Amino acid sequence: MKVDPSRDDLAALARALGEHLAHRAGQGTRYLPRVAALVPPPAARADRGARSSGAPPTPVPAPAQPPAAPRTDTREALRQQAATWSPAMKLEYLRRRSVGDCQRCALARSRHNIVFGVGDPKARILFVGEGPGAEEDRRGEPFVGRAGKLLDHWLSTLGLARGDVYIANVLKCRPPGNRDPRPAEVDACSPFLHAQVRAIQPGVIVALGRHAGMLLARRDDLSLARMRGGNLSYRDPKHPDVVVPLIVTYHPAFVLRKEADPKDHAHFMELVLADLRRACRLAGVDCAGA
Ligand code: URA
Repeated sequence: MKVDPSRDDLAALARALGEHLAHRAGQGTRYLPRVAALVPPPAARADRGARSSGAPPTPVPAPAQPPAAPRTDTREALRQQAATWSPAMKLEYLRRRSVGDCQRCALARSRHNIVFGVGDPKARILFVGEGPGAEEDRRGEPFVGRAGKLLDHWLSTLGLARGDVYIANVLKCRPPGNRDPRPAEVDACSPFLHAQVRAIQPGVIVALGRHAGMLLARRDDLSLARMRGGNLSYRDPKHPDVVVPLIVTYHPAFVLRKEADPKDHAHFMELVLADLRRACRLAGVDCAGA
């Protein structure tokens, strides 16, 4: 016997398909508004109630078909809606809908937690590291291991706390054995970082280490020492008119490795603190010694 699916079945199916496609394609809710067009309008829902009470059915208009054309209108509507959201809402949407249970690269198979980012969504200073280590992977929070303790120390030396800044990484998942990020992983993951920058709109970005510096400066020909001294800017690849001053400094893990030589260690600590004070000045943030 052939059973015609009800409008509810179709709507539920369409919604599930939309969710699935959005998840697979990493398109957030890009598909969902179109799918919403398949949900019966209030009149049709009222009619369902009437039917169960024995009243004659009201004719129901044919279900709206998803437009075949590109979803420019819906995308534009979503973009306009998102423009009114707070930075916190944008980050929440990005974490839940865009990143979701990301499977865009092989790191998804070995990670325990996605390490999205923490801090003030309206921070003036955005710190960007390379990728989570073992402790970050375990706890789902960036810079909570040994390197993180040193970053906390730098912040407190400046009279700041983690909640005064935002901290994220180029990669949101841990590369096994803390190996360097691979280009394919950076390509897959970096759109999330760019979206975080768009949401937060920091006054300055501090790249911790060469990998973060290269991605954010879009330079792969400079050593860390050259990037450190340079007058660099971050440019949003989607909106090249959005430019944020960029400071590249030493990664805390690098400075930790200097501990064996106290003089060397003190030297690099001073260099980093000088960079961070410059970052505070650029961002208009009051900090000790700036
Ligand atoms: N190193 C990083 O680059 N990021 C972290 O979150 C921790 C260590």
